[in-house]
Amino acid sequence: MTATEIGSPEMVLVRYGELALKGKNRGSFEHALIRNIRAACEPITPLFVERRRGRLTVVPERRVGDVARRLQDVFGIKTVSPAWGVEPDPERIAQVARAVLADALLDHPPGAEIPFRVQSSRGDKAFPMTSVELDRFVAPRVLEGTTGLKVDLKHARLVLGIEVRTERAYVFVRRLPGPGGLPVGTLGRVLCLLSGGIDSPVAAWLAMKRGCSVNFVTFHSAPYIGEASKKKVVDLVRALSRYQPKSRLYVLPFTEVQEAIRDHAPSPYRTVLYRRMMQRLASRLALREKSLALVTGESLGQVASQTLENMTCIGAAADLPVLRPLACYDKEEAIDLARKIGTFELSTIPEPDCCTVFMPPKPIIKGRLEVCEQAEAALDVEGLVERSLAGVEVVDVAHEGA
Ligand code: ATP
Ligand code: MG
Repeated sequence: MTATEIGSPEMVLVRYGELALKGKNRGSFEHALIRNIRAACEPITPLFVERRRGRLTVVPERRVGDVARRLQDVFGIKTVSPAWGVEPDPERIAQVARAVLADALLDHPPGAEIPFRVQSSRGDKAFPMTSVELDRFVAPRVLEGTTGLKVDLKHARLVLGIEVRTERAYVFVRRLPGPGGLPVGTLGRVLCLLSGGIDSPVAAWLAMKRGCSVNFVTFHSAPYIGEASKKKVVDLVRALSRYQPKSRLYVLPFTEVQEAIRDHAPSPYRTVLYRRMMQRLASRLALREKSLALVTGESLGQVASQTLENMTCIGAAADLPVLRPLACYDKEEAIDLARKIGTFELSTIPEPDCCTVFMPPKPIIKGRLEVCEQAEAALDVEGLVERSLAGVEVVDVAHEGA
């Protein structure tokens, strides 16, 4: 049998992080992981998921390769291995293993000698060989005539895995990286303030990576800002829906708020005051939908409104903790991540954000909370909040592909 004759893999072995698996957390972690795997893959194919010795076995009815790729986006997963099935017979295992190895070697440039080993495990104790005996049986059979590998049990970089179960044995070589992190939902829900920029989608992704399920709110200033800006944000939510089972976007009207601030507050403070209103509105929504924190894409020193002084003024208007996953990222780091997670292209479509409306000529750099509060005393803050919330528009987005 050759690399091209083995057909498609039969199942996917899923390895997940261990650090989070202490004590009582373990059960809820695994439960959430399985639920998220189903949500991510069932739009493609029905599947069977089984937990076994600290790993998961995912057996799709079809399209195993696509399922493996999908799993690479499910938080909590460390690595995945598409595995080929064969009758649990040593000769047949060696035959399939040879082809699986040849297939995996296609990923490696010829020439270099890769340290290699076979590593069997035996779930079925009735199997006629121990795992070490099976390693020794298979190794010479797969190595014969194969170049570019040298056996090194301790420092192997390429490992041919064999798992013998009662009905079937599984053979795999590739270990594809998952995104790591914790399963979405295990830490509760948060609400992300999503602009059409580069940073806030990355911030949302990072919150998902650490186990938060993320809903979104965006502020929209019609007619100063067109429908295309709103659509851009909806598209960003859609792009992010690849990483969590379901996403909700709230669109809040922001025009009246901005006009009131333009007309009644000192112009250098406009941006900071817009942001404080955003924090207030987002806090109300978050409390209503039982979100536990807000998330923003703010990054220290990136723009005038993101000095520590201004961030302090802005954060003081929130009624919930504010997570700023990008606080200490460089712009290039955020851009690299945006590219990797698939939001960069959308974020760089040139569409204005509401913050550019009535932009002051000289924005304040080191804002003071007393000045913000004084300025807001001239506004009907509560009325503005209530009218904006009354105009909310809700967009629900299912898992990509669902
Ligand atoms: P981004 O790339 O996310 O727009 P940015 O670096 O451009 O971030 P700002 O425009 O100063 O920074 O916005 C800071 C944060 O405020 C954003 O990351 C986002 O969380 C929030 N924000 C700004 N504008 C909006 C908006 N129109 N709707 C919702 N949130 C917003
Ligand atoms: Mg922005």
